[in-house]
Amino acid sequence: HHPQRSTVWVGPQGHQVPIGPDTFTFIAGPCAVESPEQTVDAARMAASAGATLLRGGAYKPRTSPYAFQGLGIEGLRILASVRETTGLPVVTEVVDARDVETVAEHADMLQIGTRNMANFGLLQEVGRAGKPVLLKRGMSSTVEEWLMAAEYIAQRGNLDIVLCERGIRTFEPSTRNTLDISAVPVVQALSHLPIIIDPSHAAGRKDLVVPLTRAAVAVGADGVIVDVHPSPESALCDGPQALLGGDLRDLAQVVRQLPPVV
Ligand code: PEP
Repeated sequence: HHPQRSTVWVGPQGHQVPIGPDTFTFIAGPCAVESPEQTVDAARMAASAGATLLRGGAYKPRTSPYAFQGLGIEGLRILASVRETTGLPVVTEVVDARDVETVAEHADMLQIGTRNMANFGLLQEVGRAGKPVLLKRGMSSTVEEWLMAAEYIAQRGNLDIVLCERGIRTFEPSTRNTLDISAVPVVQALSHLPIIIDPSHAAGRKDLVVPLTRAAVAVGADGVIVDVHPSPESALCDGPQALLGGDLRDLAQVVRQLPPVV
């Protein structure tokens, strides 16, 4: 019942960034917020390469409970202050329904990560939060299950949903997950929602971020979200997939050089 593809606007009135069919949105930032300095450095790298939204995790859903779990509320405060400094609206993950209100107070867009795509209580809660939602695909979920997860959010009155393909589990071990590039046109045939790609979390390797971004543009994705870190070797989370400033500028050039998708 929605013939036109939608554009979702993210950020405060007057500074809103579009994600949708008429543009290619470039989102970048650290995997995890580690400190004010690291976050502002990463945000400046992102902004100078042309990114228009800042990503960064304050709550990190890690496979191991012994791994860095994020700075929590302190991380949200850092993100909000870096938004003031750089002007970049912020997208950050919420992992627990009890935190939705607090995360929504600090962020411009709420991210649902792959591990929580089917956490229906959390989806319903973000559906009520009044902020756009970035809904990642569950790593073992079908496209239909993913779209139904989006319905849980929409059912609560929030249609500002952006889908994010971030790789699925397959038998192939050379990348952390397999980017399902065909999900982009498959979703676009079924849904009006914008869809972006996360090549950093799909591959888990920084050398594949640029080629996968080329693929994202070529296949008609509405944007890309990538990890960047001022010193990836000391990153507390996913350092091997983080781009440095120079890599990020190469990526920006790739994005600009590709012809617009019609
Ligand atoms: C992230 O974007 O920080 C993240 C953890 O991604 P995913 O949920 O796709 O693993």
